[in-house]
Amino acid sequence: MTAPTSAAPQEGVWVDVLGQPAAVTALRRALAQDELAHAWLVVGPPAVGQQELVRALGAALNCAEPDAPDLGCGRCNVCRRMAAGRHTALLELEPKGAGYLVDDVRSEWIPAAMHSLTEGRRKLLRVRGADRMNEAAQNAFLKVLEEPPASVLWVLEVEDEGALLDTVVSRCRRLDLVPWGLEPLRERAAGLDIPEGRREALARAALGSPSRLEALADPDVAAARQRHLDVIDRLATAGPGIVVPLAKELHTWAKGRSTVVKEANAQELARIEEEFGVDERGRGWPPGLRNQLKRTHERTERQAQRQALDLLLDDLASYLRDLVSIASGGGSAELVNLDAEAELRRDAQRLPVADAVRALSAVAQCRRALDRNGNPELQLERLLLQLALPIYAASA
Ligand SMILES: [Zn+2]
Repeated sequence: MTAPTSAAPQEGVWVDVLGQPAAVTALRRALAQDELAHAWLVVGPPAVGQQELVRALGAALNCAEPDAPDLGCGRCNVCRRMAAGRHTALLELEPKGAGYLVDDVRSEWIPAAMHSLTEGRRKLLRVRGADRMNEAAQNAFLKVLEEPPASVLWVLEVEDEGALLDTVVSRCRRLDLVPWGLEPLRERAAGLDIPEGRREALARAALGSPSRLEALADPDVAAARQRHLDVIDRLATAGPGIVVPLAKELHTWAKGRSTVVKEANAQELARIEEEFGVDERGRGWPPGLRNQLKRTHERTERQAQRQALDLLLDDLASYLRDLVSIASGGGSAELVNLDAEAELRRDAQRLPVADAVRALSAVAQCRRALDRNGNPELQLERLLLQLALPIYAASA
């Protein structure tokens, strides 16, 4: 058992929740005082510990041998299955398509909430991306929020609560999650396969996101980051003719990242076909499974490509922010891309600070265009052009 450190309220079942001491403290206090709200609105950037937090809460509520009301033991069968997301008192919901529809709430959520527990004391329903409920779904959901079954606890995870109706928000207790600080990122970096000499640089380059840090631990992603940080240099040295081929090159890498997922999906498909004895004409599939699998596979392939594009945009944005920081006299300690300091100081001479600020909005604009399913390669071309023009103007 890890001894609790002075600042981090990590012990027992909470030991897996890194980077969110304030949220853990708030939850543990509510548990200890037996004042747990029946619905929590967890607000924060994606993947900063939502899963670990919800599962630790589920374990604390259902642990077979709790050390205290706020402290699941972390050792018993219940705690271990909760931590792995495999306990029947924990239901983790995620949107099947673009968002949640009223039918999801009526035919899945409400029955799940009403169904009595087969094991454990308190049922936890975790709604990932709850800000993707449409209005009809939210209105249907309000009914369970108004008259919650006593044994049920809802956790709604959102990036921005602005997408939810005030009536939903006002019935939940809010819990804020924050980007990780450098300390937990360093700790996580030490646990990943990152060479010791690279840990500090990558912990900073992770931008507060443990999932970005995990991605950067992959040598292919780390190499791509170096290429992304070279974009300004390549635009400056190669002239306007590079914009189109460079956009193609960057997009090709992002597409390639989904190839790995595609191959894994194809293998899964083959394995399941074999399991059910599906013949060459596609007969033998259990009803509905083929379509469900197809939708899941398409979604994971789209997500992989989008995640790769987000890595690129995060790299570019962090580089531009560093340029702005240098131009306004910031020192090395403030740089995200500490490992590219020499390049940053060189490029700060090439891109005037006002244009670096404008380029940052161009990156945000590109991200929004991708959210709306804009053609990635065209959007990248547009972005690179917006980056390139002020560089050429400054050197002319
Ligand atoms: Zn336990």
